[in-house]
Amino acid sequence: MIEFKNVSKVYPNGTIGLNDINLTIEPGEFVVIVGLSGAGKSTLLRSINRLHEITDGEIVIHGQSITKAAGKELLKIRRDIGMIFQNFNLVKRSSVLKNVLSGRVGYHSTLRTVLGMFPKEDIDLSLRALERVNILEKAYSRADELSGGQQQRVSIARALAQEAKIILADEPVASLDPLTTVQVMDDLQRINRELGITTIVNLHFIDLARQYATRIIGLRAGEVVFDGPVSDATDEK
Ligand code: ADP
Ligand code: ADP
Repeated sequence: MIEFKNVSKVYPNGTIGLNDINLTIEPGEFVVIVGLSGAGKSTLLRSINRLHEITDGEIVIHGQSITKAAGKELLKIRRDIGMIFQNFNLVKRSSVLKNVLSGRVGYHSTLRTVLGMFPKEDIDLSLRALERVNILEKAYSRADELSGGQQQRVSIARALAQEAKIILADEPVASLDPLTTVQVMDDLQRINRELGITTIVNLHFIDLARQYATRIIGLRAGEVVFDGPVSDATDEK
């Protein structure tokens, strides 16, 4: 469960990113956050794993306050949260498999991972993750040899290898063509259904949101202006 308790974010220059957000997201939900550019979608998503620091309120994940956590405790909460970006954030010159293995970093000592010493179980887990997103045959290709859609599937596999319980996807299809968009959204949906991973996706197309979400949250100027099941989401919102 993810709880936002009176969460606000004011950027150093005075811009309001989030204004007093109260939300509860249950395990296994597929939430799509919609809103115009600048509405606060990215700020909201990135505040969940503290990629952005909030300035007021508290965010509680599986009963633990990530807002108050520090050190090892913070790392442990973050290990449960996989992040997917618009531009994939892969190490371009590394192999697909190495990129997926990087999802295991939080489970080992820094030295081992710096040296690339991952146990065989990690490699097996990473290969299975690649299989799940139908891209196993690319395991030994360089990441930058793959198409955009394939690279995004690698980043989903990285979150799976991480054994994330929550996936945060910030505009994951914004740089993909319509066909690839559907493939990547289908992958996210399948993983949500098969593994029960709580999935929160930022999108700016309401049609796509309706197609995939079990719940849509609409933001405007850092505030929640709509929150409900897909059937209630109308075009004005
Ligand atoms: P952060 O990584 O904390 O988001 P950035 O590197 O994105 O910080 O931004 C650094 C500075 O650039 C901000 O403090 C702000 O002044 C300015 N800035 C960045 N993005 C925006 C934006 N979307 N709107 C207004 N100012 C911005
Ligand atoms: P969205 O993801 O919906 O496009 P954002 O969360 O990126 O919205 O931005 C919410 C608001 O915060 C906007 O007004 C944006 O300009 C502002 N903003 C985002 N990042 C920064 C920053 N680093 N510094 C200052 N303002 C920012």
